Amino acid sequence: MLSAVPRWARVSAAVLAVGVGSEVLYELYALWRAALARRRARQRALCQLTEVYFANERSCQPNEPGTTMASFTTEHVRRLVALLDRAQVSINLCMYIVTVDSIGEAVLRAAKRGVRVRVVGCSSMAYSSGSQMSRLVQGGIPVRFNQKNAAYLMHHKFCLIDSDWLCPRCYHSERVRKSGFCCGVPSPLPAGGVVANGNGSGTASPTAGGSKVPCVDDGSRCVRCDRQQKREVEERKLQGVANEPLPLGGVVISGSTNWTMQALSSNWDNMVLSSLPELVIPFQMEFQRLWKEFGRLPALMTADPATATGAAAVSDAQT
Ligand SMILES: [Zn+2]
Ligand SMILES: [Zn+2]
Repeated sequence: MLSAVPRWARVSAAVLAVGVGSEVLYELYALWRAALARRRARQRALCQLTEVYFANERSCQPNEPGTTMASFTTEHVRRLVALLDRAQVSINLCMYIVTVDSIGEAVLRAAKRGVRVRVVGCSSMAYSSGSQMSRLVQGGIPVRFNQKNAAYLMHHKFCLIDSDWLCPRCYHSERVRKSGFCCGVPSPLPAGGVVANGNGSGTASPTAGGSKVPCVDDGSRCVRCDRQQKREVEERKLQGVANEPLPLGGVVISGSTNWTMQALSSNWDNMVLSSLPELVIPFQMEFQRLWKEFGRLPALMTADPATATGAAAVSDAQT
């Protein structure tokens, strides 16, 4: 019967079958490779990370082959920039002073690729020489400060990358769980609406324990209380497979080091980098506490509407 089919047709059919077959095989192979890469990325993202760095200590000798003076002095800066470049979801930077240009650039780059960036700084250092704060504000990044001329410094030096923002309900219950109290609002947080109490008035100042701003359930939900959101956020965090994803709960970098060239290259200063939830969550809570408190103050710096990129205009309940 086959002999009835012309030879050219048989040859064409065979060529076509081989062509289509190899294409299908290649597609299957690519799918298998992608699934494997996703699985590996997830496994890596489930590992915990804890590292300690001392600013004037390096991982190599200054005279090692391939080491230049520039690469030697910027080792810690480059590490921070590389970490910021791995952010997929969020950067919450709370730093007394930031003057390193390449760090400012990395933060702006992150905002441009859709990472939600928030910055808290100290009003006393906002306009100091080389400060990146104004540049970040002009780039559309929301930056909040403690009260102008305040007697107390915003002296923190920490940065959260890809950590999870807690909704007001989860924030409140986490504080109550940890300390037994939060903001004077009954626990659990009543659903919806502003809760009137005498705790929310006055200007932001150091508080002994609980938050000065009452928690209000604004209806927003977070990865902790919304499974769908958790899945979506995890998916996003794993997107940067090629860049090696950060641990799923994010990381905190903290220590004595301000993000200045002197501190990051020459001072006796330290930095701890960790993904342990026991460290990340308290720093996340502290960031949110300052964000809320400083959000009630008049803005120290505002973006020039002609130059702002609009990154801050992103609608977000997490303000
Ligand atoms: Zn509360
Ligand atoms: Zn929540």
